[in-house]
Amino acid sequence: SLVDTGALLRGLNPEQLAAVTLPAEPALILAGAGSGKTRVLTTRIAWLLQTGQVSPGGVMAVTFTNKAAKEMMTRLGAMLPVNVRGMWIGTFHGLCNRFLRAHWKQAGLSQTFQILDSGDSLSAVKRVIKAMNLDEERFVPKQVAWFIASCKEDGMRPGDVPVHDGQTQKMAEIYQAYQDQCEREGVVDFAELLLRTYELMRDDAMLREHYQRRFRHILVDEFQDTNRLQYLWLKMFAGPHTAVLAVGDDDQSIYAFRGAQVGNMSDFEREFRVKKVIKLERNYRSYGNILDAANALIAHNSRRLGKNLRTESGPGEPVRVQENASDFNEAQWVLEEAQQLHRGGMARHEIAILYRSNAQSRVIESALFNAGIPYRVYGGMRFFERAEIKHALAYLRLIENCHDDTSYLRVVNFPTRGIGARTLEQLQDAARQTGRSLWQSVGAVGGKGGANLAGFNALIDGMRNETQGLTLREIIEHMLHRSGLIDFYRTEKEGADRIENLEELVTAAEAFVTQEGFGKDAVALPVDELGPGSIAAPRSPDVPEAPAPVDLTPDAETGEIMSPLAAFLTHAALEAGDNQAQAGQDAIQLMTVHSAKGLEFDAVFITGLEEGLFPHENALSDADGLEEERRLMYVAITRARQRLYLSFSQTRMLHGQTRYNVKSRFLDELPESALKWLTPRTQGFGSGFARDYQAAWQRGSGLGSMVGAGRRNAGWQAPAEPPVPAAMKAAAAEAAGHGFKVGQSVFHAKFGEGVVVTLEGSGPDARAQVNFGRHGAKWLALSIAKLTPID
Ligand code: ATP
Ligand code: MG
Repeated sequence: SLVDTGALLRGLNPEQLAAVTLPAEPALILAGAGSGKTRVLTTRIAWLLQTGQVSPGGVMAVTFTNKAAKEMMTRLGAMLPVNVRGMWIGTFHGLCNRFLRAHWKQAGLSQTFQILDSGDSLSAVKRVIKAMNLDEERFVPKQVAWFIASCKEDGMRPGDVPVHDGQTQKMAEIYQAYQDQCEREGVVDFAELLLRTYELMRDDAMLREHYQRRFRHILVDEFQDTNRLQYLWLKMFAGPHTAVLAVGDDDQSIYAFRGAQVGNMSDFEREFRVKKVIKLERNYRSYGNILDAANALIAHNSRRLGKNLRTESGPGEPVRVQENASDFNEAQWVLEEAQQLHRGGMARHEIAILYRSNAQSRVIESALFNAGIPYRVYGGMRFFERAEIKHALAYLRLIENCHDDTSYLRVVNFPTRGIGARTLEQLQDAARQTGRSLWQSVGAVGGKGGANLAGFNALIDGMRNETQGLTLREIIEHMLHRSGLIDFYRTEKEGADRIENLEELVTAAEAFVTQEGFGKDAVALPVDELGPGSIAAPRSPDVPEAPAPVDLTPDAETGEIMSPLAAFLTHAALEAGDNQAQAGQDAIQLMTVHSAKGLEFDAVFITGLEEGLFPHENALSDADGLEEERRLMYVAITRARQRLYLSFSQTRMLHGQTRYNVKSRFLDELPESALKWLTPRTQGFGSGFARDYQAAWQRGSGLGSMVGAGRRNAGWQAPAEPPVPAAMKAAAAEAAGHGFKVGQSVFHAKFGEGVVVTLEGSGPDARAQVNFGRHGAKWLALSIAKLTPID
């Protein structure tokens, strides 16, 4: 070929090279941790693009987390001058969201549908159970929510639920009522995103053919953790000429408890007629001792497909093991070791502290917080899940869509507006009887309560009107004051932290706007325009992370795009795993082992290696469960490049109780030759018991105050650059030559006459917010929407 792909392919080993340059046909890569699976997948996309075999629009890549999607986009962007944001790279949920935004009408959704995260969906279930007058003891909301999600993951609608008895009958009814409620409110939960997409693709032959023809290549990372619905979903998008590349490792399957099926790998091999399974055997990530530990551990599992993994790096440092008297001491030890690594030149974000359960993070966080060491938590109590943030988001959602009953109930009386439980019950009854939203049913409630409800509706209406034409930042700031949230928290005792968090929301929005390119004029050139064979100079390794994939593709017919506010709300629902507010700072990474999948760090601490904790107590009595825990430990170990630290503690305060623990059996399954015990190797909690008991006793009071310290973000700083005033942006946009002005009257074929209120971007990226009166305010892509000026 004439294209010089040398730079792209340099450094790959022969097996990797073969995988990257496979012909366009279904293929499966089955290989161990750190063998370059993700690298092969990313390089293959770059190679396909560079050799002109496919255009950016013809590729779909599925990753397991938003973080992984971002990383893939960053890597791709560094390899090729391609507009990665236009590509379909994301999680199953993210891609479904993108699909449904484009086809909301065919999918039977409202255009402004919002996404319920798992917490929202649980409270929606609770409301249904209450409305149906059912006993929460018999129909435990958590279990019901889980039931509904698993039905959806099995592709079952309420009518498909097998009914055996009164109980299952009722469950099916709750499912139906929950579904009706979601429809009414214009909201979808995570499982619904997938199922809705799947059903639409299944039932709409034209759409299916369109996408099947469009995607010439579909690439799926972490394939071992796909569930049944995701697999069927994939089969819908894969047409007769689509080359699907699945990449996975059976030893890293850690979501069986949530319905993931390793069996999908063998099904894939058979159903897609994979000719040859590719194996990669050289590990590029870890030093020898770390890999020895991983290999020896996983050898204790019986059901394996069988793979080898070797490294050509030397043995490196031994794996250090530390026994601690208490979880408090453990946290202190981790902190000191981490500081030492940092002083030795290791960046903080290259240090990860892993734990099996979220609840374990608090004591580590307290230690880091008190020492003033910046850290970043993935998962757990996430930024977007904090109460004050959820309140603020609820107001924003209502501005977008006043029929969102979940948000309505959350803030109708927060801060208090004299709307009591009785008034709300009346309102909900009225809504139920007429099948309308709470917003629409306000007129049915009389008295003072009714007047207060009407006042609330007027408040939201007011906010919607007042925020038209404002930037996202201004909208949020306006809402925070107008809603009374800021004033409310000012009077609260612990309110300062919450106000700080609300301010972080503004910053998060600001960061989102900058990343998403709203109001930014730079447009990445598509690869085609640069011609084949041209490679941009590799970017420096510290390029900022690419944004989460929120789709801003305009509607092909009307040119309408999502408003920045709607895009931000979607981002907040999908991005629950990230604390945006700390982005950009060099911080130690804290996360569960589950969320560490696919990532790598120079140094890794695995804490809480105790029986009952890791392996988890729920898995102790069951062989399958234990094997899954061991795979989880394998994932944890194989995250480390240079240094691995293992620790356990004799006593631990968890869920308000002190537990006395024995060290994890996994420690006994590691080869002694790879380890270095920092404390004398002990059996169980024999020797230091009295000392440790005393230590636990002594810190009883101290712990309470530590917990009370909360999780404020240590030392976080706002970005230095001030936001560009809207007027300046508008001026820039006008100068860019589309000829529209703020305040100008225009005509749109579908929406009729309107007035331009905001202008952003330039060239193919130019957008306008136009107030169409009866149709409300719309965001339009000027290159597509055919707007005619009216004078
Ligand atoms: P996991 O199973 O944990 O997801 P993986 O198989 O996806 O791992 P990668 O993350 O792709 O592995 O690669 C592990 C590390 O090895 C990365 O830092 C990657 O850049 C590096 N690597 C992979 N292949 C090579 C190679 N041929 N030469 C040098 N480094 C490589
Ligand atoms: Mg990987």
